[in-house]
Amino acid sequence: MTTDYKHKLEEEKAVLMGELAGLGNRDPKSHEWEVTAENTEGETADPNSNADRFEDFEEKSALITPLEAKLSQVEAALARIEDGTFGKCRVCHGPIEEARLQANPAAETCIAHLEA
Ligand SMILES: [Zn+2]
Repeated sequence: MTTDYKHKLEEEKAVLMGELAGLGNRDPKSHEWEVTAENTEGETADPNSNADRFEDFEEKSALITPLEAKLSQVEAALARIEDGTFGKCRVCHGPIEEARLQANPAAETCIAHLEA
């Protein structure tokens, strides 16, 4: 049973990593994702082109944040599978509903403690 969730989580992790890799790089020390630095060589003094670059950076940062949050949830769920606490509510330590885990294997709480 848990193996199915592990498989799902690993797939989700691979997808998230792929999306993040298209947007930025993961700092090997902090494990934080950062927008890939543009090659600033040949940078012109044209203020418009610099503004575009900044917008592109902002846009990518805005995309990275939710992906990164999801990835850390998925990684935390995988860690719970390893330490045997997977499927237990973070609040009441009761079992998380099967349907909820199927919809979101990275869920940390039972339905009653959603958003707790
Ligand atoms: Zn609960």
